[in-house]
Amino acid sequence: MPERTNLDHDPPMCGFRARSSVEEVTAAIDARVGRLATEFAALESAGGRVLAESVFSTVAVPPFDRSAMDGYALRGEETGRADSYTPAVFRLIGIARPGRGFVGQVGPGEAVEITTGAPVPEGADSVVRFEGATQDGDRVRVHEPTPPLRHVGRAGEDLDVGDAALDAGRVLRPQDLGVLSALGISNVPVVRQPRVAILVTGDELLPAGSTPRGHQIADMNSVMLQALVRRDGGLPTVVGPLADDRAVMLDALKAAAASSDAILVSGGSSTGPEDHAPGIVAELGEIVAHGVALRPASPAGLGFVTGLPVVLLPGNPVSCLCAYDFFGGRVVRRLGGRSLDWPYPAVERPLARKLVSAVSRVDYARVRLIDDLVEPLAISGASILSSTTRADGFLVVPADCDGYAEGTVVTAWLYDL
Ligand code: AMP
Ligand code: MG
Repeated sequence: MPERTNLDHDPPMCGFRARSSVEEVTAAIDARVGRLATEFAALESAGGRVLAESVFSTVAVPPFDRSAMDGYALRGEETGRADSYTPAVFRLIGIARPGRGFVGQVGPGEAVEITTGAPVPEGADSVVRFEGATQDGDRVRVHEPTPPLRHVGRAGEDLDVGDAALDAGRVLRPQDLGVLSALGISNVPVVRQPRVAILVTGDELLPAGSTPRGHQIADMNSVMLQALVRRDGGLPTVVGPLADDRAVMLDALKAAAASSDAILVSGGSSTGPEDHAPGIVAELGEIVAHGVALRPASPAGLGFVTGLPVVLLPGNPVSCLCAYDFFGGRVVRRLGGRSLDWPYPAVERPLARKLVSAVSRVDYARVRLIDDLVEPLAISGASILSSTTRADGFLVVPADCDGYAEGTVVTAWLYDL
């Protein structure tokens, strides 16, 4: 018998006739779940949203030639080969400040005092730094050759009319908002955020954060799932804890389908007498997969109700996290137009010891990073959520692989945000 200390045992449910592969479920999600419609977000609150359309510049940024220094605007060629012994002398005819340019022409032998950001006056084409000149009344003696265009930011040098500024699909960064502002865009076309109903089921569950009482435990999954959905750009709403009752579940699913873009069901996803979710989804719509070759989340499933994706997540908290990582998150990110890549940073490191996995299913194994090695965690069991808080991340053993020898370089996905 190979040692199997570090992997999870399936929950005691073997009622699935056939299990779908992870790829089959993923392919069904990709085929049937598309991006939501475009809406407009106020510029101030568009950070982190997904840009729905590529943005091209319709204006020049900056809109005018402007000074990049504090100094004197003049005709650069007139500074020639000036130096301290033979300065080029100019007559000061006015000042230019940001937002308040000099009105008039700068002629030969003339200079305008200017500060950074002020428009370069007509006739002038370069700016001599204050350090490159001395001033005495209206006499400016320049001792630093300053050819045309020196210290001048040209109109359109940042973005010119017609330039591609930001590509569709981009998650808007703070600096992107600055660029959009410069382009005169106050309402930003973004992908609507998916509304995700989280139905939490289980007679044994008390509201999240409750002190356990008798044989009842606090719901752990709703808070975890809410944070995951938010991370993936969705707007979560928790319903429950709901009783393991067919009628209760039916009403909750119908109500959720009417007011959301996707539904996650936590618990009751297996084949036992209290597991109502799969049957109800099949009745209201269709079940695409029920039972997946994925450990520790085999009682996971996927269905559609009035076109909305419904992801069935096992109640065991580790299984729930695993099934969310593989399927729930993908649904939410597809709806929201986000990258399908896992939002976990990956590191490649050697395994500290061998890891055994059964062929024919994907394994999601929690690991720690110790001394630059990937150490599989010995804690097994899909119900041990603290195995994921003790872990630095997880690795995925593909279905066609029976594990890895010690020292094999593996990819570990880190739970860090
Ligand atoms: P189920 O998938 O409903 O059969 O639940 C499997 C196991 O996970 C049971 O031990 C449940 O008590 C537990 N469980 C179900 N839902 C939750 C939850 N929201 N938080 C914590 N544990 C749960
Ligand atoms: Mg249950």
